Amino acid sequence: MSRFLNQRLRAFEAYVPGEQPSGGYIKLNTNEAPFPPPPGVFERLTPAEIRRLNLYPDPDGKALTAKLAGLFGMGPGNVMLSNGSDEMLSFAFTAFCGSGVGAVFPDVTYGFYRVLAGLYGISYEEMPLRDDFTVDVSDYLGVGATVVLANPNAPTGLALPVRSIEAILAANPRNVVVVDEAYVDFGAESCAGLVGRYDNLLVVRTYSKSRFMAGARLGFALGSEGLIKDLKKIKYSVNPYNINRLTLAAGEAAADDNAYYEENWRRLEAGRRSASERLERMGFAMTDSKANFLFARHPNIAGRELYAKLREAGILVRRFDQPRIGDYLRISVGSGEQMDALCLALSKILERSPEK
Ligand SMILES: *Cc1c(COP(=O)(O)O)cnc(C)c1O
Repeated sequence: MSRFLNQRLRAFEAYVPGEQPSGGYIKLNTNEAPFPPPPGVFERLTPAEIRRLNLYPDPDGKALTAKLAGLFGMGPGNVMLSNGSDEMLSFAFTAFCGSGVGAVFPDVTYGFYRVLAGLYGISYEEMPLRDDFTVDVSDYLGVGATVVLANPNAPTGLALPVRSIEAILAANPRNVVVVDEAYVDFGAESCAGLVGRYDNLLVVRTYSKSRFMAGARLGFALGSEGLIKDLKKIKYSVNPYNINRLTLAAGEAAADDNAYYEENWRRLEAGRRSASERLERMGFAMTDSKANFLFARHPNIAGRELYAKLREAGILVRRFDQPRIGDYLRISVGSGEQMDALCLALSKILERSPEK
């Protein structure tokens, strides 16, 4: 730290992303897909597209916005793009919190919410999940603050039904409810259909997980025209050209191939079910994840130790050094081969771990 850092940020701790090693590991730590982007993306990123990198991109990404609006059955005024969904979350905290409006989110959820609130000096309350990690909907009724919920939640994978989110929307008409649907395509219900009925709903989506393009950095939000205008006000004040030309082109081509995605989402759901059965047979306890990861702990071995042993075996998973979940590992659902390697490594580690 230099002596110049803003006083307010001295004790502040930044978000720590999952490791991105340059190679040598089976990577099951950041919920990337084991599949490439759809074939149309390969065709779209031509030398002619590269030639046009001398030009700024369309700051509104109108072509991609229109495609996504079509895909979700809404108007272009209900859609906005961002550089990954983390950027959209940042815009949302800036736009809809502050000046006396705080934020509420679960105690066990995506760590970025707490970091953003801290960065912007927004007061926040972490609502404890129940012991089984489910959300108690009554905690979020009439809270007088911006509500932020990942659905399915991360890292638990547990999903709320749309009717529960609708109850929260209806009980907080004076506040925005942000629903982070990073994992919704893997088997949960989306709230996108409620956008026309609730002007306080902001649905945040990403291409990183279920559209197999984490490296492109593309996210988007669906919401009422008013909310989208507010978010654009922030974006135009921070970084008007936030999405590069190649990513916009890739995003458009990808939006044309929903059949490819739907087929692979079904493969990932099947992969999740099969991995979860195998882990269960080894004695793991797991949540009922609707995402592309498992959230698992074993009664005979501490999370820290299991994480370290998997790492030694060349397998990276994610662990959060945090109350309540320190013994859990979040394991991305990878390819069949990757899951075979994981199960083999786990069974070897467990053989050497006596029952407690
Ligand atoms: C991965 C993730 C994101 C952010 O992903 P981007 O790559 O920035 O789009 C947002 N929310 C949750 C819950 C996530 O797991």
